[in-house]
Amino acid sequence: MMANNLNYRVIIVGGGIIGLTTACTLLKEYASIDNLQLTIISETFSPNTTGDISAGYWQPYGLNLNDQRMLKWARYSYEIFMEEYVSIKAARAGVIQLTSYSVFKQEDPQHVDDKDLSIEFPFLPLVRHYRRLSNTELHIFDHLAPVTGFVMSSVVVEVQRYLPELYRFLTQDRRVKFINKKILSLSELKDQADVVINCTGLGARYLVGDLAVRPARGQVIRIHAPWIKSMYYFDTKTEGVGYIIPQSDTIVLGGTFQMDDWSKKPTEEDTNFIRRICARILPALDGIKDSQVQVGLRPYRDGGVRLEHERTSDGMNVVHCYGHSGAGVTLSWGCAKDTIDIVKTLLPVNDPSSSELPTHEQLWRLIQ
Ligand SMILES: Cc1cc2nc3c(=O)[nH]c(=O)nc-3n(C[C@H](O)[C@H](O)[C@H](O)COP(=O)(O)OP(=O)(O)OC[C@H]3O[C@@H](n4cnc5c(N)ncnc54)[C@H](O)[C@@H]3O)c2cc1C
Repeated sequence: MMANNLNYRVIIVGGGIIGLTTACTLLKEYASIDNLQLTIISETFSPNTTGDISAGYWQPYGLNLNDQRMLKWARYSYEIFMEEYVSIKAARAGVIQLTSYSVFKQEDPQHVDDKDLSIEFPFLPLVRHYRRLSNTELHIFDHLAPVTGFVMSSVVVEVQRYLPELYRFLTQDRRVKFINKKILSLSELKDQADVVINCTGLGARYLVGDLAVRPARGQVIRIHAPWIKSMYYFDTKTEGVGYIIPQSDTIVLGGTFQMDDWSKKPTEEDTNFIRRICARILPALDGIKDSQVQVGLRPYRDGGVRLEHERTSDGMNVVHCYGHSGAGVTLSWGCAKDTIDIVKTLLPVNDPSSSELPTHEQLWRLIQ
């Protein structure tokens, strides 16, 4: 590819799923610029990010399902994950295609709800395949009765495998540098970068004083249950929700969504609740004792994800991308694309060959 004389310095603050997918997208879009310096500064990296706790399941969750930007980002990421599932890296990066069943307690079993599913769940038309569960299919869930529900074709991206692969890809590019450090104020980075990209998740509450960012605490249990091959979600409507999400070697049982709870300590009450509700869905789970109990704080944000450019009072160009709540994996590549599109308006690429840039999949093939 043509060498370009442009000289740009970009800093990404945050090394979670949002920071690293943004970094990969930047490298792809600036492939022709040899003198790009990308520094990724983060207080923690995998396995100590929020995504490492998550189940990495693709489905918009814990945010406004009618946000059209969100649906666009979810669609973009879904397409990438599906491509990755049929690529050579699926095993190593933990990308798993699976069928998922979502069932909901129904108040009035006589009432057959034939409303268009996509009104209530606007993300459904984004997936390859979905449909309302027929009565015959619902019989599988008679023990939870009465219920209604849908089945869809989705994907799990096991973040504990995926992030190290992104990291490996990034470290192979001599333009990239990693720094393990907490930033107390973005102005520390003034004069060090032409653009700073803020991917700090919940940390944005303190770093940029955005009080709309709040924790949505999630406790999960990882167990060994190799006979489970599908995803199950059960909404009791009154006693909370349970979900069962396969990974490569484990199964994630969840879960809780506790607003404004900052505690990262597991509680016995939550453990008992998760075990009880998941064993209600699949009774064989009752006998499984060995487990790893974990807690993560989802970066919820009132008003949804903040993805925008800000020119700060001290003249810095900052592009914010944080507040993904329970869907950071689901939205990752879509948000990364829009973030880098903004960066490109600030730091033009001027590359006549940019239309010939590698596709996402071709790019990843470079790191076998
Ligand atoms: C229990 C649970 C289950 C989940 N399940 C799913 C799921 O199935 N599917 C899905 O899509 N999503 C899921 N999520 C949500 C998902 O994990 C998050 O939305 C996502 O991880 C957010 O990514 P992020 O990169 O913005 O934040 P983080 O992963 O929190 O990364 C932010 C990074 O910024 C760094 N940082 C913060 N402040 C500073 C600072 N001042 N200086 C330097 N570095 C800083 C942090 O150290 C961290 O590395 C789940 C979350 C939880 C807790």
